Amino acid sequence: MILLEEALALAGKTPIRLETVMVPLEEAMGKVLAEDVISDRDVPPFPRATMDGYACRHEDLPGPLIVLESVPAGKVPTQKVGKGQCSKIMTGAMAPEGANCVIMQEYVRSEEDGKIIFTAGETDNNIDPMGQDLKEGQLLLRRGTMLTPGHLGIIASTGKIRVKVAKSLMIGILATGSELIEPDQLPTGAQIRNSNSHQLAGQVRRAGHTPINIGIVEDHRETMAERISGAMEQLDLLILTGGASVGELDLVPGVLEELGFQLEYQRVAIQPGKPVSFAHRSGKACFGLSGNPVSSFVQFEVLVRPYLENCTGAIPVNKRIRIPLEKEYRRHRADRQFFLPVCFTDRGTCEAVKYHGSGHLHALDKAVGFAEIPAGQKVIEKGDKVHVRLI
Ligand code: AMP
Ligand code: MG
Repeated sequence: MILLEEALALAGKTPIRLETVMVPLEEAMGKVLAEDVISDRDVPPFPRATMDGYACRHEDLPGPLIVLESVPAGKVPTQKVGKGQCSKIMTGAMAPEGANCVIMQEYVRSEEDGKIIFTAGETDNNIDPMGQDLKEGQLLLRRGTMLTPGHLGIIASTGKIRVKVAKSLMIGILATGSELIEPDQLPTGAQIRNSNSHQLAGQVRRAGHTPINIGIVEDHRETMAERISGAMEQLDLLILTGGASVGELDLVPGVLEELGFQLEYQRVAIQPGKPVSFAHRSGKACFGLSGNPVSSFVQFEVLVRPYLENCTGAIPVNKRIRIPLEKEYRRHRADRQFFLPVCFTDRGTCEAVKYHGSGHLHALDKAVGFAEIPAGQKVIEKGDKVHVRLI
């Protein structure tokens, strides 16, 4: 059994090499940026009014001031503001030359002769200087950024509608187990619906890659070997679930070795999810995850996802928060690092969801993350802070 960090380092030694592709921005969400994005202009690109009001010279206040023109957003002012003058201006509009402040409309009185008077004692200048947010040529997003909606906005603001990203991996998902049937079938006897493949497809998709459902294979050595070899041809990576442990019918690690894969590990000191393997063969890779749904979920998050991020050159984002536990938590054995499904309370704490163990799929309903409890620690007192890895 090896530690999680060791498992990550071992798999990280044989990443799948990824090509890059240009995609329209519409398709870039969740992908990993494969180029730097540079600002093509100053932002704001001109001195910009931040209020509706009148652009004028601070030294002329409180007026009276002659109104020269009205400047809405999108229009270039036609007149320079001089002594005793002002221009009506809207939020976001270009401040006219000569003006050094915008007085708010709410603090202005109009005189009968059309002039205006400032009625408040003081004012902020209410003009954002050109280039205040960004300078032309400035690095905005680094290659390796995992793209979020905010990033898409930033890229669009530079005038780019296509962007270079790491190509998605084609990730096959194959459920192993003679008890399994597809979800649209009615279980009889001791049959179980294959829920893992759908769960994993969601996790793969959320990681920015393309899931391919290969279906179910029974616990039979030759059949499994055939299905795996056949599937590998169209895939970059295969994720198997079930048959990962050391039982008589836990065939996955053995079959992978028979097929010429190099097995890097078979057991990692995590709970749930100890039986988990990583293997590779000629530039392609394979994860053998547990059949238990919560285990395979955790294994994907803590092992597969970081591996994928490494393949794409993603800059890891810290998605862990430190937060007090609502109630004391105890466990009997503490030989492995523990991932406890938790939800948030409205008291600024987190709380274990109802959880009966790694087969308890429905615990994932309310879970917003997993509290990471180090190996060796049996008790967490009420109010002690834990790291929660958000999912
Ligand atoms: P295994 O890892 O094959 O020993 O399976 C452990 C448990 O997970 C057993 O109760 C299986 O029935 C269940 N299981 C295995 N594969 C799946 C699957 N694809 N979907 C849902 N449950 C599964
Ligand atoms: Mg099984």
